[in-house]
Amino acid sequence: MSQVSLQVKLLEVSRDAVALIYAACRQCYSAQFAGDIFDDAAASAQEQEAFIRKIAASGHESPMEHVKFTFSIQGVSRALTHQLVRHRVASYSQQSQRYVKADHFDYIIPPSIAGDEVLRSEFLRIMQEIQVSYNVLLARFKEKGKSGEAANQDARFVLPQAAETKIVVTMNCRELLHFFEQRCCSRAQWEIRQLADEMLNICRAELPCIFARAGAKCVALEYCPEGEKFSCGRYPPKAKVLRPA
Ligand SMILES: Cc1cc2nc3c(=O)[nH]c(=O)nc-3n(C[C@H](O)[C@H](O)[C@H](O)COP(=O)(O)OP(=O)(O)OC[C@H]3O[C@@H](n4cnc5c(N)ncnc54)[C@H](O)[C@@H]3O)c2cc1C
Repeated sequence: MSQVSLQVKLLEVSRDAVALIYAACRQCYSAQFAGDIFDDAAASAQEQEAFIRKIAASGHESPMEHVKFTFSIQGVSRALTHQLVRHRVASYSQQSQRYVKADHFDYIIPPSIAGDEVLRSEFLRIMQEIQVSYNVLLARFKEKGKSGEAANQDARFVLPQAAETKIVVTMNCRELLHFFEQRCCSRAQWEIRQLADEMLNICRAELPCIFARAGAKCVALEYCPEGEKFSCGRYPPKAKVLRPA
């Protein structure tokens, strides 16, 4: 059992991502076949990127759905993945607590707890207790002839939300933009925000023409839609920028 922290690795991004989005965008306005637009090099990479930026800024987002990113993520809590999988326009494969025995489970400690001696020692104490309890349940199940997934699937009921998990996520660019709008915001919970920030850094490096200006909703709006009380102050609140209807 030990404390672990976030690790994100890009497994794959769609091949020829810029040319792919460009061909899809062009198909909407061209008599030409997207198959030919994709293959010929009539437009330079820079021209393709400029065109994509213009289309994206106009709100025409469906061509971005053709490019996908797949990430492997570890060192996150079950509390985080419970929030992550609420994003429905995505594909997930998560480590199972039925098939993978948690007899030495790792955990995530929130910074607010890690930085306080009293909170930290209480947190570590309960992690130890849960581990002992989980192992007692498994041992008793074994005495009764129950092992493997049949035992794990019931013993896991005592595991905490802090328990570490691993997950593979695939999202297309449109969904990623939406995910970043929600989860890079200072109002998002700290752990999923940390994940979203890491994923955004990777996406920006891979595909700047889509992700250079991505981030919390306020980045595109240039005001904070969350209301003055909740605003982090990065942008002025909506009420100060927009006239009431
Ligand atoms: C700060 C914050 C606090 C939150 N607090 C809570 C909370 O207290 N309780 C809680 O339950 N959740 C909470 N959530 C989760 C939130 O309600 C969403 O479930 C989650 O953020 C996923 O967003 P989404 O549905 O837009 O994304 P996705 O599921 O990825 O969907 C993307 C978009 O597709 C469209 N779409 C997808 N499915 C449908 C559908 N069935 N019908 C119509 N349109 C659809 C919508 O336009 C949607 O925005 C919170 C989220 C944030 C960011």
